[in-house]
Amino acid sequence: MSGMIPCGRPPGSGIIPPVPWARTILHLDMDAFFASVEQRDNPSLKGKPLLIGHDGPRGVVSTASYEARPFGCHSAQPMAIAKRLCPQAIVLSVRGERYHEGSQQMFSILEEFSPVIEPLSIDEAFLDLTGTERALGAPEVVAERLRARIKSDLRPLAAPPEPLLLR
Ligand SMILES: [Mg+2]
Repeated sequence: MSGMIPCGRPPGSGIIPPVPWARTILHLDMDAFFASVEQRDNPSLKGKPLLIGHDGPRGVVSTASYEARPFGCHSAQPMAIAKRLCPQAIVLSVRGERYHEGSQQMFSILEEFSPVIEPLSIDEAFLDLTGTERALGAPEVVAERLRARIKSDLRPLAAPPEPLLLR
C-alpha cells in the first residue's frame, strides 16, 4: 500500500468528510454586464431585448441582454445577423466609460470579501477566500452572499443617463 495517501474516508461509505481546503479561490464572471448597466441606467430598457455594439454593416454585438438571447443573439455575432434574428431589439452603442464605472463599483464590493483579488477583465475576477471561512462562512455561502450583494447593492450610477441611440 506504499504510495497511497490515506484520505480518512471509510471504505464504501460514500461520505466525504469535511476536509479544510488548501486554497479557496472564487471565480466571478458577470453575465450580460454591459446590458445590465444600460438597464440600470434607464429602467425603461428593463425586460427588453438589447444589443450593445456598433450598429453598422461591420458592427459586432458586444453584449446581448438576457431578453435577446432566446432569439439566438449573442456576443461576438455580426450585428446584422443579430438584428435579423431579433428585429425588435434596441441597439445601443458601447459606453465604455460607463461600464468601467460600474466595474469599479463591483470591484469595491469584492474588496469587502477578500483583500486578494485578481481582475481578469472588466466584469470578471478571481477572489482568494483562503482562510476566510471562520470570519465569512463556507465558500458556498460567501459566493451566494456575494451574488446577492452585487444584485441588490450595486448602487445606481451617479451620472444621469446619456441620450440613447435607438434604432
Ligand atoms: Mg462576463
